[in-house]
Amino acid sequence: MLDVRGIRKSFGALEVLKGIDLTVRKGQIVALIGPSGSGKSTLLRSLNMLETVNEGEIWLDGRLVNRRMPGKAFEIHLNRVRQQMGMVFQHFNLFPHMTILKNVTIAPRVLKGLSEDQSRRQGLDLLAKVGLESKSDCYPSQLSGGQKQRVAIARALAMQPKVMLFDEATSALDPELVEEVNLVMKHLAAEHMTMLIVTHEMKFAAEVADRVLFMDGGMVVEDSPPDQMFTAPKQERTRSFLRKYLNG
Ligand code: ADP
Ligand code: MG
Repeated sequence: MLDVRGIRKSFGALEVLKGIDLTVRKGQIVALIGPSGSGKSTLLRSLNMLETVNEGEIWLDGRLVNRRMPGKAFEIHLNRVRQQMGMVFQHFNLFPHMTILKNVTIAPRVLKGLSEDQSRRQGLDLLAKVGLESKSDCYPSQLSGGQKQRVAIARALAMQPKVMLFDEATSALDPELVEEVNLVMKHLAAEHMTMLIVTHEMKFAAEVADRVLFMDGGMVVEDSPPDQMFTAPKQERTRSFLRKYLNG
C-alpha cells in the first residue's frame, strides 16, 4: 500500500532523514518509535507531502506520489494524495468556529462534492463510530482533549483514506484520556485500516502493531515484530533506548 524508497530530507545543513526505506502492506499496522528529534514527524509529514523530500520515492497504492510536475497539475495531484492519506496530529487542529459535525463534513463536501445530506449522514456515522454522535452540535472548545482527538480521527476518516498516519496522537492528552483514543485506533486496526503510528507508548505499540520500526538519527535502525522488538531487540541502540522506557 505504502512504499518508501531512499527518502532523504534536509533542513539547511541538517540532514533529518538519511535514506529511509519502508513498506506498509494493505491492512498492516506499523508502529514507529524512537527518541525525540530522530525524524519521525518529518517522515510522516513527508509522506503526506507537507514536506518536500530532497531524494527518494514515495509510492501509494502502486502510484508514485512525489512526482515533479508543473504548476496547477501538481496542486491537483497534491490534493489527491492528501485525500488518500489521513493524518492525525498531536494537537488536534480542529476548526474552532465550526461544530463537531461541520469539522467532519467540510472536507468531503468541498473536496469530494458530497451533498449536505450525504455528508451529514456520513459524518454522523463516523461520529457514532468514535462514540461522539451526541456531540455533533457542540464546538471544539466544549470537548475534552480525548474527545477532540476522536473528532480529528473521524474527520480524517471522512475522506476515506487508504492509509492513516498518526503522529503521537495521545501524547498531549491527560493520562486518563489516552485509553479512549487508543480504543478508537484499535477498532480501526480490527477493521484492517492500513496505519502508520508514531507513538511513545510501547505497551500500545505491542498490542496493536504487526511490526515496530525503531528510528534513530534519521534512519530506521530496526524493523521487527513487536514480540521481538520489545523482548529481544537485535540492535544495541534499540536495546538502550527501550531500557529507558521499560525501566520507567
Ligand atoms: P521527531 O518527530 O522524531 O521528534 P522531527 O522529525 O520532529 O523528530 O525532527 C527531526 C529533526 O529535524 C530535529 O532536529 C528538528 O529540530 C528538525 N526539524 C524538524 N522540522 C524542521 C524545520 N521545519 N526546520 C528546521 N529543522 C526542523
Ligand atoms: Mg515528532
